[in-house]
Amino acid sequence: MLDTVKRPQSSAATHCTSSDYETMYRRSVEDSDAFWLEQAERLDWVKAPTKGGEWSFDPVDIAWFADGKLNLCHNAVDRHAASRPDATALIFERDDPQSAGRTLTYSELQSEVVAMANALKAIGVKKGDRVTIYMPMIIEGVLAMLACARLGAIHSVVFGGFSPEALAGRIEGCGSRFVVTADEGLRGSKRVPLKTNVDAALAEPDHDTPLDGMLVVKHTGADVPMTEGRDHWYHDVRSNADCPCEPMDAEDPLFILYTSGSTGKPKGVVHTTGGYGVWTATTFNYIFDYQPGEVFWCSADIGWVTGHSYIAYGPLLNGATQVIFEGVPNYPDHGRFWQVVEKHKVNILYTAPTAIRALMREGDDFVTKHDRSSLRLLGTVGEPINPEAWRWYFEVVGEERCPIIDTWWQTETGGCMLTTLPGAHDMKPGSAGLPFFGVRLQLVDNDGAVLEGANEGNLCITHSWPGQARTVYGDHERFVQTYFSTYAGKYFTGDGCKRDEDGYYRITGRVDDVINVSGHRMGTAEVESALVSHPLVAESAVVGYPHDIKGQGIYCYVTLNAGEDGSDALYTELRNHVRTEIGPIASPDHIQFTDGLPKTRSGKIMRRILRKIAENDYGSLGDTSTLADPSLVERLIEGRQNR
Ligand code: ATP
Ligand code: MG
Repeated sequence: MLDTVKRPQSSAATHCTSSDYETMYRRSVEDSDAFWLEQAERLDWVKAPTKGGEWSFDPVDIAWFADGKLNLCHNAVDRHAASRPDATALIFERDDPQSAGRTLTYSELQSEVVAMANALKAIGVKKGDRVTIYMPMIIEGVLAMLACARLGAIHSVVFGGFSPEALAGRIEGCGSRFVVTADEGLRGSKRVPLKTNVDAALAEPDHDTPLDGMLVVKHTGADVPMTEGRDHWYHDVRSNADCPCEPMDAEDPLFILYTSGSTGKPKGVVHTTGGYGVWTATTFNYIFDYQPGEVFWCSADIGWVTGHSYIAYGPLLNGATQVIFEGVPNYPDHGRFWQVVEKHKVNILYTAPTAIRALMREGDDFVTKHDRSSLRLLGTVGEPINPEAWRWYFEVVGEERCPIIDTWWQTETGGCMLTTLPGAHDMKPGSAGLPFFGVRLQLVDNDGAVLEGANEGNLCITHSWPGQARTVYGDHERFVQTYFSTYAGKYFTGDGCKRDEDGYYRITGRVDDVINVSGHRMGTAEVESALVSHPLVAESAVVGYPHDIKGQGIYCYVTLNAGEDGSDALYTELRNHVRTEIGPIASPDHIQFTDGLPKTRSGKIMRRILRKIAENDYGSLGDTSTLADPSLVERLIEGRQNR
């Protein structure tokens, strides 16, 4: 049983108290269409929808608000520019803290989006075209997304840290004939050769779709080759001509986004306009509990779904003020996040466990030397957060003043699905919390039998919600196979989960990562949390491997705090520590100390690679193209062989 932490009383008014939650949740499931049609009124519609959800999970066919028409760029930009032209929309903080940033009001944001949309038109982009956006975290990245939405083009953002091969696959995958990029990106003072990478991607041997046009934003001023007739500097083709928003059907695709690839080849997930717009607008309002005038900061990259839903769309659909951060948490030092919080008086911060653990490892001084009194709410997303890191975030960063929202969701869900609401619920460190409005969950066992009450099983969703992905681009069969074939008639998340007697849900890890030791099922997240609660451990990843006696043994990869070395004594101490924390059944069979863990570019640990290495099976590591540091794999194999 997890401890409960009482929710701190937030000074601001709240959009949802605990009794509101009960009533609204009940209505959202009992009278779903009426509830969501009402939420849809947050947006301006060219033609208001009269239909709510029309969907089936068998066969798989999903639509929401199907007879409505709207444009999300109008909703994110123009309507606020009309009503509150001087309100701040974006605050740009550059990689180098010494460089002057930039601030755009909603009226300026509108002019800039129009300029970008005209530039896209100038290179030939039309409604329905796919446009690949390969950008650094600069304002123009967000502009390009919104400009696509304005024209009815479908954006496909590819994280700026991806290699030319990975980029080529994603351009090819959706038949995109247009790319928006920059000369170079900057991250932690390092230059990223974006334009050169695009050229290299297009030169890949198996890339055969010619590009019709490329827009290049001048960012660092680096000298880059431009192909005559195909490549255009953004500043040469931008214009302020009139550029109206294209009215879109609610079910017209808004974007394609590839999943992070933790579990296999990335999938090009498709989200549509109306349902996604309503979902991101509604979740942002209630979960981040945004109040007028507050400053919101989501530290994700626009290359991930978090940057789509809680940078480009959710906050802007709500007319919020937000920070766009180009840099990284550890440059110029490990205090950078808190310095940005202090400088821009950030009220709401949304980041990932990987960043929290990395900063925690460096000690409290980097945090406490900056004024964080503006902070009101702290959020986390991306992986299970271990209670140790949760407590540090709550106690050190937020001084026990700020509620924490641990939001569970996926690229496929479009926005947050499980969380506590800051004005409504107490928190349990390590547990995401309760279902958001309209989210209907089920835990099932491996045979698909429904598990009731406090229980542990595979997490499924039984009813559609507006933000649900509609398909995998160009491969509906893969969509059906991946999500709807394991348990007929249900969306299977791929995650294992525990529900307690208060109805709180705790994600235990990917189902593939649940280990069975002598008949006891154990989530890898649980053993990892125990390891990380040891003062010398910075991070850990746990996998199962074949064990003659127990069926599966517990193999732990452990990264220690800066400056610490793994000794035999520490090895024994850690084993005993896990035994005390969880019990003898969880006692690690092997601990491998390592200087790092293989992570996707979005910072998620790729356990399937660790599983292969633990199994001594190096031949079939699978797709490693989304790894942040491929060289680490060699070092891990070496460490494994030396045991
Ligand atoms: P792929 O589907 O290609 O393997 P991915 O699942 O890593 O990639 P995302 O959609 O970015 O791609 O991540 C969603 C997953 O991240 C969830 O299924 C879950 O495993 C994990 N996750 C996200 N947020 C949380 C959270 N708050 N707590 C626990 N796990 C989380
Ligand atoms: Mg996934």
